[in-house]
Amino acid sequence: MRPIIGMTGTTATTFDQGITRLLSTQEVGYRTYVHAVTTSGGAPFFIPLVREQSVIESLITKLDGLLLTGGADINPLYFHSEPHPNLGMIDQEKDELELRITKLALDANLPILGICRGIQVLNVANGGTLYQDIFSEISTTPLLKHRQQAPMTTLTHSMQIEPGTYLHEILQQTSILVNSHHHQAVKDVAPGFRITARATDGIIEGIELPSRKFVVGVQWHPEGSFQEDVYAQHLFQAFIQAATVA
Ligand code: MN
Repeated sequence: MRPIIGMTGTTATTFDQGITRLLSTQEVGYRTYVHAVTTSGGAPFFIPLVREQSVIESLITKLDGLLLTGGADINPLYFHSEPHPNLGMIDQEKDELELRITKLALDANLPILGICRGIQVLNVANGGTLYQDIFSEISTTPLLKHRQQAPMTTLTHSMQIEPGTYLHEILQQTSILVNSHHHQAVKDVAPGFRITARATDGIIEGIELPSRKFVVGVQWHPEGSFQEDVYAQHLFQAFIQAATVA
């Protein structure tokens, strides 16, 4: 049997001829997540943006792993900051669901992979903070182009990986190329977590919880480059493997 991988949904809307409508999961790009989980041996299962705690608790008992998907910015009130003028769109329902389900998944000792916004949810759910907009909040060093305009299949910046971390163990490299589509980043790392990777400008690209088998956050989009990127494949395989033996 394949492990059931819960993947969090999104309140995605588009403004089309004056009408706001919800985007389908295909339009959001969840196809790539589904493909990566399926190809790596998991069974993807979408978690809707439910609010009732008892529903989330019931769902958690059926999952073998949790995949926190990309999406809008997290409401900075969750990390005790006021909104910066360059804060992007926020998604209140996704915030509420993901912050709750992340805590429950940690309590249940489930493997967790947080992607892009997911690394940020992992950090904030555990008491860390974020840069709301790295480009205007960091002036001490010139930043890289973390919001690439190239497709996700194109890898655009390098990243240094800390030896001795699970991420290093999984990828067996001290430097790899990644794609990059974010304007926020981890600022203060949550207690108990450690940094696993940084871009050459110092921006945190990975964190993990060393006390657990697989609680990993990545700032890049391995699902987007999965097709041809062997390191993205290794990362998903390690996640599904951890969920399989859990
Ligand atoms: Mn980046």
